[in-house]
Amino acid sequence: MIADFLRSVDPSEISDATLFLVGKPFPESDPRVLEVSYATISEASRNLGQTRLSEAPLAIHDVFRTFDKVSEATGAGSRVRKLSLIQTLLTQASPVESEYLVRMMFGEMRIGVVEGIVQDAISLASGAPKELVRRASMLHGDIGDIAKIAITGGPKELQRIGIHLFIPVKPMLAEMAETLETVLREHPDGSAFEYKLDGARIQIHKSGDKVRIYSRRLTDVTDSIGEIVAFAKTKVDASEYLIEGEVVGIGKNGRPIPFQDLMRRFRRVHEIQAMTERIPLKIYLFDALYVDGRTLIDERYSERWEILASLAGEDYLAPRIVEQDKKEISRFFDLAIKEGHEGLMAKSLSSNYSPGARGKKWFKLKRDDKLDIVIVAAEWGSGRRVGWLSNYHLAVLDQETGEYQMIGKTFKGLTDAEFDMITKRLQELKTHEDKWTVYVKPSIVAEVTYNEVQKSPRYKSGFALRFARITSFREDKSPEDADTIQRLRQLYEKQFEKKSRLELT
Ligand code: AMP
Repeated sequence: MIADFLRSVDPSEISDATLFLVGKPFPESDPRVLEVSYATISEASRNLGQTRLSEAPLAIHDVFRTFDKVSEATGAGSRVRKLSLIQTLLTQASPVESEYLVRMMFGEMRIGVVEGIVQDAISLASGAPKELVRRASMLHGDIGDIAKIAITGGPKELQRIGIHLFIPVKPMLAEMAETLETVLREHPDGSAFEYKLDGARIQIHKSGDKVRIYSRRLTDVTDSIGEIVAFAKTKVDASEYLIEGEVVGIGKNGRPIPFQDLMRRFRRVHEIQAMTERIPLKIYLFDALYVDGRTLIDERYSERWEILASLAGEDYLAPRIVEQDKKEISRFFDLAIKEGHEGLMAKSLSSNYSPGARGKKWFKLKRDDKLDIVIVAAEWGSGRRVGWLSNYHLAVLDQETGEYQMIGKTFKGLTDAEFDMITKRLQELKTHEDKWTVYVKPSIVAEVTYNEVQKSPRYKSGFALRFARITSFREDKSPEDADTIQRLRQLYEKQFEKKSRLELT
């Protein structure tokens, strides 16, 4: 259906129509945002009544021009301006159109059309192989443009899309390896083991004097990390490049600071000066995608590493060994943990760079922590999880009050059969509900693995688990046996034995 639809729209509308399908007002590589609050949108949707003021049907161009204007409204009076723009837009829309416009503005399209499906549709509509469409959209960061190029220009035009400096590339991702044996088996040509550094991933683009740095989510973070810009200009021996690495915030004792505190640095553009003094940054490079006119993503990783190593001094490269011996690898793993990092990345020496793909070419080896939590509520799922209670509110026991306090949510880790089973059980335990959430009597205990305990103002407990996923249901445990907020506090403190605490005073 989507392929037919894309073929049927006017070429000038293909790219906006495609963005609409994936529910995005702007392409991924475009830093603009709408920045409208729930309150503004509901105010704009109120009092519209049933009558449409305009007889001309709303065109897709009008929608996107309005989004442009909404994102341009900043500073004093911007709320009123945004409100009026959105109100005008909704007045021109039919009720059903309004519904989807509102969903898009909230970033909750929820029609089950994910980017992968749109890529398949583009492939079908244009006759270009799926892999080519996927690769082009990962390199280009604008699925709307890709749809237009593919449908109007065919596979030949798509083929020409390569790395363009200053258009961020979706980073290659890693799969979790449960054991070292898996890694050795999956990488018959050998692997390199690099520290899995506990920081934030960046890609640095440079041409002549111009440098831009993008985050893992392709946001431009250049202005918040001036010292890395300086590094890029002076310490890398090439005039044009796209290289990747991890920025790590260094605490007082020379160890990495928690991820959460580093992110604060990324967000604070205004108080950069003060933050620069507070959190010194260190860069560890680990890949080169483009150097002096040469696109490297189809080269072997071992070759890319050699090129990278020839550009920057060893001090700036991720610590790394090429090794087959399990004992040596374990020793290196322990060293990474001891130095406050997350573990190791195992990269196949013969692998190419697959933008945006998570696979077995790169594995991560981590030491995950585990907690037994209690499910206190769950939200109805959407997309693939429709019909299931699937986003679970995780809580731990407060020994002092006997209350269960929330420390996060997750929908990760369950099989379909488990979703079925838990949905039924939760409904039996229901105490009350609202539109999306069913609240239950604390009863089901689950083991979750997580990555880090963070301080969080969002929950009364004051803590949140980062990357929680359910690993098993502990039928053998009653809710009173669950882990406690007191233990969580200790775990939070313990993290600082390996990391250094960010001094905020
Ligand atoms: P994960 O976020 O657990 O999927 O792991 C992938 C992330 O690990 C990347 O996005 C990087 O931010 C980070 N990372 C840390 N060290 C490395 C490394 N040596 N190579 C690649 N990624 C790394």
